[in-house]
Amino acid sequence: MYNPKSEEAGEFISCQEILDTLDYARRVKDDMSVVNGILEKARETKGLTHREASVLLACNNEDKVNEIFDLAFDIKQQFYGNRIVLFAPLYLSNYCVNGCLYCPYHHGSDIPRKKLSQDEIRAETIALQNMGHKRLAVEAGEDPVNNPIEYILESLQTIYGVRHKNGAIRRVNVNIAATTVENYRKLHDAGIGTYILFQETYDRAGYEELHPSGPKHNYAYHTEAMDRAMRGDIDDVGLGVLFGLENYACEFAGLLMHAEHLEASFGVGPHTISVPRVKPAQGVDPASFDGGVSDELFAKIAACIRIAVPYTGMIISTREGQSVREKLLRLGVSQISGASRTSVGGYVENPEEDTRQFEVSDTRTLDEVIKWLIDLDYVPSFCTACYRAGRTGDRFMELCKSKQILNCCHPNALMTLKEYLMDYAAPQTLGAGEKLIEREIGAIPKEKVRDLVRKNLVNIQNGQRDFRL
Ligand code: SF4
Ligand code: SF4
Repeated sequence: MYNPKSEEAGEFISCQEILDTLDYARRVKDDMSVVNGILEKARETKGLTHREASVLLACNNEDKVNEIFDLAFDIKQQFYGNRIVLFAPLYLSNYCVNGCLYCPYHHGSDIPRKKLSQDEIRAETIALQNMGHKRLAVEAGEDPVNNPIEYILESLQTIYGVRHKNGAIRRVNVNIAATTVENYRKLHDAGIGTYILFQETYDRAGYEELHPSGPKHNYAYHTEAMDRAMRGDIDDVGLGVLFGLENYACEFAGLLMHAEHLEASFGVGPHTISVPRVKPAQGVDPASFDGGVSDELFAKIAACIRIAVPYTGMIISTREGQSVREKLLRLGVSQISGASRTSVGGYVENPEEDTRQFEVSDTRTLDEVIKWLIDLDYVPSFCTACYRAGRTGDRFMELCKSKQILNCCHPNALMTLKEYLMDYAAPQTLGAGEKLIEREIGAIPKEKVRDLVRKNLVNIQNGQRDFRL
């Protein structure tokens, strides 16, 4: 499936095509016959090309924008229902040799440096398990001396090995710098979930300015990382850009072109897309970058991503506050982080303000986030079943595109929520969660599955754990 041509210096995301796309979108955005045609195609829920989606993003007609929001909600319901998957980041080390201008971990920064020992990782993992987390995203700066691949691999083993009370981390996604096929294969063999790497920006000239030094300066090597990851047998990869650095429309088109490239080359698009925005941090002022994105525009970007790639999970972190998160949940976000600490060692020590990668806007506890989701009629899910059942890559996408995956997602959400309620929930959350589960069991269409879930819920009540479909 792999197309060797794609090795040519990140050319699959041609700057000229991005510019042509933006120009095309500007020209036709007020032509309602074109916009209506694209919306009609989008309703088939098979996705849109980067050009089509860019037209929707450029369109400012109020009625059409409302239609875009409604359609995003509708597609979200069809593919994800009312479930929201929870995760937390775990920062291993902030040593970094790169010079990214928007990140306080850049090598010239005077931020205190810290790298967790395996004992400290164990302690952080226990703290995360004690909140109820089952799914982590491991983060580390790029530093071949302090954070070599062996350190990451050992850390993964440590995390997966911690069993504290009923806790368990069942899936660890990894967000580390672009690396070699050989190292990706090692990560795959260590049992990672999704490999996540943000492109930051698809504006090549802007990228090179924002990354003036270190291995990350190499745009092509960074952009082709997902190709190498796939060749290293990692078949779930997560894309993302840092909105706010450069022109949002350019980032949006580039992101979708990247997804199209993966689909064309490997038969499987990105597992997830993250939509972070630049946030204040030590020495970082979002206003100093070119591409500020308002909350309204941010919502429209999320809605257009949902429409363009209906089968791809969308992630929003605690970089965003409660109200923005609430709005984006409706428009397509399927995964959120909760109770995150963005400092190294932040779950055990008092949050160390001075080693944070960025300011967290949503500072609620995990239990508060769970209660909030339940009150909004979402089903918080700690499900990690697909990765553990080998439903990854094209096997996952096939089930997802045909919407059959829903037959697993919903029951698994209810069973993992029940585990959370039994082990970690505050009394009010427990009461609200039990009522939600009772209501939602009725939404499982097959009687046989309903009965199985009921039986497993009783087993969970009686102390058994880890049921999944
Ligand atoms: S964004 Fe990543 S690579 Fe860049 S300085 Fe921060 S930690 Fe290092
Ligand atoms: S069943 Fe698979 S797709 Fe659904 S929530 Fe669980 S891991 Fe995700």
